[in-house]
Amino acid sequence: MSQTAQTVREDGVIASVSGPVVTARDLDARMNDVVYVGHEGLMGEVIEIEHDITTVQVYEETSGISPGEPVENTGEPLTVDLGPGLLDTIYDGVQRPLDILEDKMGSPYLDRGVDAPGIELDKQWEFEPEVEEGDAVEPGDVVGTVEETITIDHKVMVPPDYEGGEVVDINSGSYTVEETVVELDSGEEIKMRQEWPVREARPTVEKKTPRTPLVSGQRILDGLFPIAKGGTAAIPGPFGSGKTVTQHQLAKYADADIIIYVGCGERGNEMTEVIDDFPELEDPSTGNPLMARTSLIANTSNMPVAARESCVYTGITIAEFYRDMGYDVALMADSTSRWAEAMREISSRLEEMPGEEGYPAYLAARLAQFYERAGYFENINGTEGSVSAIGAVSPPGGDFSEPVTQNTLRIVKTFWALDADLAERRHFPSINWNESYSLYRDQLDPWFQEEVAEDWPEVRQWAIDVLDEETELQEIVQLVGKDALPEDQQLTLEVARYLREAYLQQNAFHPVDTYCPPEKTYLMLTTIKTLNDEAFDALDAGVPIEEIIDIDAAPDINRIGVQDDYETYVEDLKAEITDQLRNLY
Ligand code: ADP
Repeated sequence: MSQTAQTVREDGVIASVSGPVVTARDLDARMNDVVYVGHEGLMGEVIEIEHDITTVQVYEETSGISPGEPVENTGEPLTVDLGPGLLDTIYDGVQRPLDILEDKMGSPYLDRGVDAPGIELDKQWEFEPEVEEGDAVEPGDVVGTVEETITIDHKVMVPPDYEGGEVVDINSGSYTVEETVVELDSGEEIKMRQEWPVREARPTVEKKTPRTPLVSGQRILDGLFPIAKGGTAAIPGPFGSGKTVTQHQLAKYADADIIIYVGCGERGNEMTEVIDDFPELEDPSTGNPLMARTSLIANTSNMPVAARESCVYTGITIAEFYRDMGYDVALMADSTSRWAEAMREISSRLEEMPGEEGYPAYLAARLAQFYERAGYFENINGTEGSVSAIGAVSPPGGDFSEPVTQNTLRIVKTFWALDADLAERRHFPSINWNESYSLYRDQLDPWFQEEVAEDWPEVRQWAIDVLDEETELQEIVQLVGKDALPEDQQLTLEVARYLREAYLQQNAFHPVDTYCPPEKTYLMLTTIKTLNDEAFDALDAGVPIEEIIDIDAAPDINRIGVQDDYETYVEDLKAEITDQLRNLY
């Protein structure tokens, strides 16, 4: 954040304090202006103006401040600092780097009224120009790069709100983010640092239909419920259902260039876990630390509620900035329920008319505005980039009928329903295949057909049909037992068991199984389908079901996941299954 004293307009005084909501009298302010509240100068944002009373949500603990203290308006909206140094950093919800805050205060407990720039101002970056004197540049154009981390080259762009013009001076070498690297004939000076108001989407040329999957290496996701690059997904995570593991897997393996992880207000220790865990994770595609392509925004629930409200906007604005460079960004928000609760708390302090379960009537609109900023875009500099938004939801008691889950489901196009019962049975990832869905399937099929196999959609549909049939048959089995079923249905149950155990389950902790490329996902399904087709032929030829189920080769299907050299393994296994079954008649 960067609100400076020069822009200060006029002071007011505090009229009332109610938790994170403070009212001020005689403040000359506009909606969303950032203000400093009280003698300590706590940062807040104007959220309502009525006559001479201005209502402010304060991003810090307000105990101890009282009516009569000054309120100072910066006259500027809440912005984020954008530039090299965003990656490999952990922020709080208003983009204060946690390590710097800790240093300033000498303790890991966040104090009040401490301000810190969002990116390091005195660090030198090696700027390599990509334009020359005389070149014409427009807003968004890349004028040079710096190596931001060992993994990511940072593109220095003409800010979107500049006019652009002809380059009259360009520097190369070591510069700080505040020094001018390029000068234009319009008089505009380009620095590595830009600012952007968090509540406003950065401009683009066009939102396009996403047609490339965000490949996750998690076969249930890629195969059955894929998300597109630029897509939206919700993942509800009842406690112990494997939410953390799933999110780590996505952060590590999803083929996004940049990961923005917004931890908004989960219980204190859970967020601490993320802060401790992430810096330890390795990026499997480069061997570098995962943090080299990650920015973490962390608000524990013991931080003030309003900061939780702002953290998702801070996160998505940073995501858009990297998208503008032409990168594919995956933003993970954990959890949007805590964010919604922050809105609820502030709304109730404002004594607004409550909607369902006390949430404000604008809950749905806010959620929609957030997910709306995800997408696959043509950027103003002509590159293409994407922001995929994956929001975790924590429905109390795992009840999906509550307002946050329901409103989210109306917006997102992918739903990965983590299931506490599956987790209890140690079926991981515990994504419920009956409840989950992806509306991207059809538009991503051409990619999978081109890159993996022409019959990808048919094979997937076959697997879905078998699993659906199993669900229906299970109800009958519960009543009358398996043996009462006709033989063909017993066989379907057996095939479905392989789908569940070999295909749907995937061990995140096995060095090979942890990542399953789409080719392997496909081959695993076709192996099970080979078993299915050959077994039904055998059944039709009169072979008793016991003999079919009993062939030696079948259980090897469960070992495909852990095979490094899976192509040969699968080829041999398919041949063996076919042989053994054909030998029965
Ligand atoms: P949550 O965050 O929802 O409370 P976790 O992600 O910590 O749950 O998962 C709980 C436990 O479940 C993990 O410690 C791990 O043992 C197991 N688990 C979850 N997902 C997987 C997976 N994909 N593969 C193997 N084990 C898993």
